[in-house]
Amino acid sequence: MGVMLEALLALQDIELQIVDIRRQLATRQRSVKQQAAKVRAAEEALATEREELKRLQIQMDEVDMDLKSRSAHISKLRDNLNTVRTNKEYAAVLSQLNNEKADVTRLESRAFELLTSVEAKKKALAEHQQAVQLEAQRVAALEGQVAQAQSSFMDRLTALERQREAACAGLDGKALELFNRISERYDGEVMARVIQVHPRRQEFLCDGCNLSLAAERANALMTRDELITCDNCGRILHMPKGT
Ligand SMILES: [Zn+2]
Repeated sequence: MGVMLEALLALQDIELQIVDIRRQLATRQRSVKQQAAKVRAAEEALATEREELKRLQIQMDEVDMDLKSRSAHISKLRDNLNTVRTNKEYAAVLSQLNNEKADVTRLESRAFELLTSVEAKKKALAEHQQAVQLEAQRVAALEGQVAQAQSSFMDRLTALERQREAACAGLDGKALELFNRISERYDGEVMARVIQVHPRRQEFLCDGCNLSLAAERANALMTRDELITCDNCGRILHMPKGT
């Protein structure tokens, strides 16, 4: 293999390490984002639950007030019963009193229902709040991990980028431009080995895409230090020593 292809392979080696570090960082950042989104959604759900609880409590207060005023009315009607003069008046007040009592009974069962709902809601809300708190703590822990990974990766990344610069310096502009374009497309996997399928036959494969390769491409690689790309995947081909 010629000097240029050797240099490109060395560059690829550095490139792949850089890509790997960036990928690891991106994966961690993504998981932080996902976790944070989960917490945000849970917090929104909590806010809705709090609103529902508030609405129930307002209804409960209204029923309580209604009950109080009806109870006061009932005492007043009872007093009236003692002061009416005629049977007709007595019957009218009594019927009012009975209606009011029936309403009170209905309201009392409504109040009980509301109280049961409020208590259940409060309990659920407390549990959900605790769960969200735990999830939020997980976000904080993940953020800490990412920050730590970032600082430990940063030194390594700086060193690799310096190595990359040095490796690029030995290559001509055309080779470098091609390398960068393919790297962009294949996440650093720029180079593809040429594999001879059978030791006695002139049949070759591109190791990048596993498709067969014209024999003249492989033969050219054996004799020249040239930029030859795979017709199918576009990677730069190289022939390992001893092929
Ligand atoms: Zn290929």
